[in-house]
Amino acid sequence: MIIGIDDTDSNEGMCTTYLGALLLEELKEYGTVETLPLLVRLNPTIPYKTRGNASVALKLKTDCPEQVIAHVTSRIEELARMECEKTNPGAVFIQEKDYERLKPILMSFLEEAVREVIEIEKAKTLISRLGIASKGFKNGRGLIGALAACGAMLNPEGWEFTFEHLAYRQKKRWGTPRDVDKESFFKADRQTYPDTWDTVDLKNGLVVCVPHSADPVLFGIRGENPEVVSRTAALIRSEPVERFAVYRTNQGTDMHLLPAKSIAEIRDMHSYRLEGTVSVAPKTLEGGHVIFTIRDREGDEIDCAAFEPTKNFRQLIRKLVPEDQVLLSGSVTSGTLNIEKIEVKSLAPTCREENPKCPECGKHMKSAGRGQGFRCKKCETHSLSKIKSETVRDLRPGLYEVPPCARRHLAKPLVRDRCRSTGVYPSR
Ligand code: ATP
Repeated sequence: MIIGIDDTDSNEGMCTTYLGALLLEELKEYGTVETLPLLVRLNPTIPYKTRGNASVALKLKTDCPEQVIAHVTSRIEELARMECEKTNPGAVFIQEKDYERLKPILMSFLEEAVREVIEIEKAKTLISRLGIASKGFKNGRGLIGALAACGAMLNPEGWEFTFEHLAYRQKKRWGTPRDVDKESFFKADRQTYPDTWDTVDLKNGLVVCVPHSADPVLFGIRGENPEVVSRTAALIRSEPVERFAVYRTNQGTDMHLLPAKSIAEIRDMHSYRLEGTVSVAPKTLEGGHVIFTIRDREGDEIDCAAFEPTKNFRQLIRKLVPEDQVLLSGSVTSGTLNIEKIEVKSLAPTCREENPKCPECGKHMKSAGRGQGFRCKKCETHSLSKIKSETVRDLRPGLYEVPPCARRHLAKPLVRDRCRSTGVYPSR
């Protein structure tokens, strides 16, 4: 049986992955856990999310599905933060006999949940049409994520994956500051990067894998395989770990990005890869956000932003000038593309013609009339032709990304991208 769960937490506590970790242990009473649990990140722009729009799936070999359903349902009732308006849990149960039948349908549902916006009714209709056992609480929005997580479990090879070792806190410590030895994270990172990533942010001197919210997560180590994430977690010194779970996940894969052929097709609450030409130079707004505009071949334009939390990435963005060609990855909300990565494909021409400068006052001369060259009226100097000037750019074509402290869960770090095949890693 495959069990999908979502939407059990609120800003004040809980985390669906923690419920997953508890169930992994508790469900052993009813059968055998067949494979690693899944942590599936869905559309990162969904406003109903608490934090990272995560859902969870488990796979169990069992002879007593009814008891499993009753157990999972009662644990959601006990642990979910039902008092929070935004918490609307959902659980979905898929019987082994239905795996093959549901595999393609739920794979496309997974892709839709990662890239599109889905109505609750669509999930409910699908559940009843396909005869899937489910339990929705309150408005049942969690059924969307629960179904999508089952789609991922039914199609283990249908999507790119990475791993995360999640360590959880003792209950008595929830809501208190986390007691962790920061240096141990930097040391662990030195030993296992680039097979692990986003443990620390070297440029900003931050540990990024320890949350600050009231949820039960102590830290999460992300990496290429289950062995390396657990080996790295073992190097961390911290308050006692109550339990841990290693999840297989779509984090760090860019699964959310849709290829955009033109700006006209771009919609809010979706994420894209989009190519264009810088049409308005970057400017820094109040609060430190850096915004510029790009234009596509049809002449349509869209604002693109490196917001304040992207820190040093903004310095790079400020170096763009009109006519630079860029390929951007990011999510669109309120008509603005929030940049996750940028490929500077080519720089604007650096050599341009301009009016000659006056040898006396140094100012640009004005035209002296058609075919009559240029002159400086004040100094009475004269020159026949325009001069060529070369702009020196402190920017090279190439791939750039936001720092780990600003990374979206789904965004693929460059260190996992082309670098793995070329062996050339970005400087940190
Ligand atoms: P955490 O990361 O701490 O687990 P969360 O950020 O995952 O919290 P949820 O509490 O799960 O947030 O809320 C997200 C809600 O949005 C869920 O009910 C989920 O089913 C729903 N949802 C997920 N993806 C989509 C989508 N593409 N369209 C519409 N609703 C979605």
